[in-house]
Amino acid sequence: MALVSDPAPLPETIDDVIELISQDGDYFERMGADGKIMQCLFCEWAGPRLITEWHIQNEHIHKIETCTKPDWNITMTLGSLVGKRKWCCQIIDYHNEHYVLAAKFLEPDCLMANLMTLSSDDSMKSGSITVYNRVTGEPFSWSGNINSVPDQLPSENHAQLSVPLSKLNLLPNSANLTLINGAFITKMGNKVVVGQPELDDIQITFFSKIFIGR
Ligand SMILES: [Zn+2]
Repeated sequence: MALVSDPAPLPETIDDVIELISQDGDYFERMGADGKIMQCLFCEWAGPRLITEWHIQNEHIHKIETCTKPDWNITMTLGSLVGKRKWCCQIIDYHNEHYVLAAKFLEPDCLMANLMTLSSDDSMKSGSITVYNRVTGEPFSWSGNINSVPDQLPSENHAQLSVPLSKLNLLPNSANLTLINGAFITKMGNKVVVGQPELDDIQITFFSKIFIGR
C-alpha cells in the first residue's frame, strides 16, 4: 500500500460528485446510520435516497418513458411477472416528475400493482390504476393518493390494486385455470400453458392516470 496517494481529481459536474460519493463506503455507512437507505427498483444497488434516484436515472434510463399527458398505459408480459421475487417497475416521466408503476404476480391467482412517485416533493397527488377484462371490458380499478416510493418496495400484502388473474380472461377459459410453478393448469390437472416463452406472449396492460391538484 502506498503511503502517499495522489489527490483524487476534482469532480467537474454534479454527476461526477455523486459518482464519487457513491463509491465512498464510509459515506454510505454514515448515511445509512439514520436508516434512510433506499433499494434500487431494478437491481441490488442500495444507497441514500438522493443517490439512488440519481443511480436509477443514470443506470436504468431505458426504464424511464416520457409522457406528455397525465394518462398512459404500460404493458407487461405475464412471463415478466411470474416467479419474480421483486416487483417489476416502469417509470413514467410526466412534467419532469417520475412516477413508478410496480406490478407483481403472486401464485396462484393474484395480480398486484402500485402507483408511486420517485420525487420527494410533498405536494399531494392522486391517481388511478385500471386493468380490464380482455373479453368483457370489465374494469378493475384502484384510485387514491400517490405516495413516494418507500425505501423498500412493499411486501405482497400492500398492493393498491389486487385482482384475481382469472377475472381478466387473458386466455380462453381462463376462469377455470390456475397458475402454478409457471404453468396454467385446469381443474382436471391438465397443463394448458407451460413455461416462460408462452407466458411471455400473454400481455397485461395497466392504465394509469394522474390527478394533479385535487
Ligand atoms: Zn439499479
